[in-house]
Amino acid sequence: MERNANLYTVLQSGFPADRQAVAIETPACAYSWQDIDAISSRIANLLRSLAVPAGSRVAVQVDKSPEALMLYLATLRAGLVYLPLNTAYHEAEVAYFLEDAEPAVVICPDNAIGWCEPLARSKGAAHVLTLNADGQGSLMRAAAGQDPDFVTAHNAPDDLAAILYTSGTTGRSKGAMLTHANLSSNALTLKSYWGWRSDDVLLHMLPIFHVHGLFVASHGALLAGARMIWLPKLDVDQALHYLPRCTLMMGVPTYYVRLLADARFDRETCRHMRLFISGSAPLLVDTFREFQARSGMTILERYGMSETGMITSNPYDSARGERLPGTVGPALPGITVRVVDDVDQPLAAGEPGHVQVRGPNVFAGYWRMPEKTRQEFTLDGWFRTGDIGVLGGADVPGDYLSIVGRSKDLIITGGYNVYPKEIEMVIDAMPGVQESAVIGVPHPDFGEAVVAVLVPRAGETVDAGAVLAGLKVGLANFKVPKKIHVIDALPRNAMGKVQKNVLRQRYASLP
Ligand code: AMP
Repeated sequence: MERNANLYTVLQSGFPADRQAVAIETPACAYSWQDIDAISSRIANLLRSLAVPAGSRVAVQVDKSPEALMLYLATLRAGLVYLPLNTAYHEAEVAYFLEDAEPAVVICPDNAIGWCEPLARSKGAAHVLTLNADGQGSLMRAAAGQDPDFVTAHNAPDDLAAILYTSGTTGRSKGAMLTHANLSSNALTLKSYWGWRSDDVLLHMLPIFHVHGLFVASHGALLAGARMIWLPKLDVDQALHYLPRCTLMMGVPTYYVRLLADARFDRETCRHMRLFISGSAPLLVDTFREFQARSGMTILERYGMSETGMITSNPYDSARGERLPGTVGPALPGITVRVVDDVDQPLAAGEPGHVQVRGPNVFAGYWRMPEKTRQEFTLDGWFRTGDIGVLGGADVPGDYLSIVGRSKDLIITGGYNVYPKEIEMVIDAMPGVQESAVIGVPHPDFGEAVVAVLVPRAGETVDAGAVLAGLKVGLANFKVPKKIHVIDALPRNAMGKVQKNVLRQRYASLP
């Protein structure tokens, strides 16, 4: 039989020989490598006992806990497909994902079972279990009676391991299908590129429903056999408490801004740190420099997305080059990046254009969207990232990429992606509204803040407060605009397109 390509088998190859060593530490307790293996075995045995077909989706909308990570690992081990959902999503949003992905198993917290169970069953899920922030719930109760040994399912490299939903520009979310080979190739590449070591201690504060916290951070530590300090979210007091014991931290730019805002953060806090990594949204050059001055550490910025995992990274090893602020570094080993014009012709260094990528990390396509998948790849297999970038430039080596914009009009607020179209559609459907435009404006804390501009129908008035209240009912908090402006007409160009750049300038400062 050919080698098992199951991602868990790959990650497990990095577990340390001493299985009693601590793998995950929380403020309340610690889990050894043996615990990871035994608990994920129990959950995997439970999943297997449900007798759902191989490749069935397991949809999970739960708070971060060590058990939630074990559930992810158990899903891999059982040969099922993990489908994490942002905990901020409301019922109406979750309904779409369950309808589209048709999961056989749905896991939610006890306090959501009232709406989640009937919803999941109505969409065809045969099993609904619960997992709470404290690691309790019906999932863990049922798993407790299972065998702590499990032989990980045999998977081919191209078998699906996970589906990550990304919001679509049309307002319809797309499920990015990631294979075992996609995820393991990226994990193995990053392990050597970032110099992961078994004596690393990672401060893990990112959510685990997203590529950054679930794959980049967790896979890195698991594959290195390194300890994770596992916190539910960014909490500056906790971060300052743990950082002096850590060697590595990953964060979205907001995390670095928040650390800098606290006068206690200094060189002493970072005395054992070897690496701070930033990504998911652009890191301001000012933040990079201020961080360097305060801590003596140079943040490493990398670039990637749900569909591809990590694509480029500033170097860890100074022999490979410098970490340059405002850039996301060269393509990772084994991955190729190019910048092209509107007809897919490569551009010269220094010229901005569409960023495209090829490599073993690039996903298998969008779930049940063959046409969309076809459009997002060139005929010769390059994936269109939707980002606008430039290779090289003044004082920047030709292989370093800088992200200069987003052709998809995406807003990134506090590391979360918000697609304007989705919010515009909800506002446009409200009484008295003619049309709307949703934009991102600079925000010192979140990077960008969501702002909505709307035009009432002729002769009607619209109350911004009522629109806001209406949006809060159906949308995750991070998508709800920080400010709503009611105006007479949207600025448009000669082609009739709304000039969002004009709106961004006009409303750049939040009152
Ligand atoms: P997601 O799929 O949620 O990870 O979002 C991916 C998008 O985040 C990319 O297509 C980029 O637009 C953006 N992104 C990720 N990392 C960076 C970065 N370092 N700088 C600028 N944009 C980034």
